[in-house]
Amino acid sequence: MQDKTPLLVVKNLRTSFFTSAGEVKAVNDVSYHVDEEEVVAIVGESGCGKSVTQMSVLQLVQTPPGKILGGEVFYKGKDLLKYGQKSKEIRAIRGAEISMIFQEPMTSLNPVFTIGQQLSQVIRVHKHVSRKEAWAEGVEALRKVGIPEPEARMKNYPFEMSGGMRQRVMIAIAIACNSSLIIADEPTTALDVTTQAQVMELLMSIVKGLKKAMIVVTHNLGLVTRYADRIYVMYAGKIIESGTTEEIMKHPMHPYTIGLLKSVPNLSDEKGKALVPIEGAPPIVINLPDRCAFCPRCPYATEDCMNASMPGLRPVDVGQKHLVACHLDMRGSR
Ligand code: SF4
Repeated sequence: MQDKTPLLVVKNLRTSFFTSAGEVKAVNDVSYHVDEEEVVAIVGESGCGKSVTQMSVLQLVQTPPGKILGGEVFYKGKDLLKYGQKSKEIRAIRGAEISMIFQEPMTSLNPVFTIGQQLSQVIRVHKHVSRKEAWAEGVEALRKVGIPEPEARMKNYPFEMSGGMRQRVMIAIAIACNSSLIIADEPTTALDVTTQAQVMELLMSIVKGLKKAMIVVTHNLGLVTRYADRIYVMYAGKIIESGTTEEIMKHPMHPYTIGLLKSVPNLSDEKGKALVPIEGAPPIVINLPDRCAFCPRCPYATEDCMNASMPGLRPVDVGQKHLVACHLDMRGSR
């Protein structure tokens, strides 16, 4: 079978924040890729660097205190990091080629403009169509995301809509520009559980229907297992495991991934099986010792783990598509 074409290739990306306490290595030598029409999940707890990685791709990291220190971000073959943060090239990519859906739409939508004004403005900027055409496309986009009476809703202000409706508006904005890649950063975290499922189903049906690629950034491994083709697990600014969703679910190899899976409900679990949280908290990534960053929380840590340097990613399957950064072989430990 022929390999798919990579749409986005991130290589050795490094982004730090320079604070009074020291250098926070938020993204520390991160590499990943997304193929055309593929859904990729980037999973990890808050503060692991998953959102900063995506902000770095679009050069949205606030400088200072943040700074992209190195790496390459190829989108359709062009290295985006070669363009300046405010260059016309990167502005042309944002929205039109790669669009982002943020966790809390209230921070992305402007409270003093109506939904219609904001939606048609984005369409006009990226598609260079008339005001009237942009308005009509805006109505159509609201219809596609299942908002009833879209003509009337265009005249609403964000505060007049529920959280779920506002997130649908954000999805409408993302699809209205016909971008090839959608980055959804914790797209359902601010919503109640029932609405989370509806919004996720909607997002996935649109992405698959329009043959788009998507990166879903989330702390909820359970949420993405139904939707993602591949998963990258991040910890302390690094990718510590990656593979197909099926492989990661069946044979998780990193103790952190195993912990994440034990902490979320699974339909195949026996009835009454208790969920097990991961003890401790993720480290603050300032002056970390050169060893596995998960050591203090790892139930399998050995003396060797404490003394050895940080493990790099290594393949654990024949096809070399399942990678893990752990000194031990955790096969069958779940
Ligand atoms: Fe745990 Fe050691 Fe593997 Fe780190 S290298 S995850 S401490 S077993």
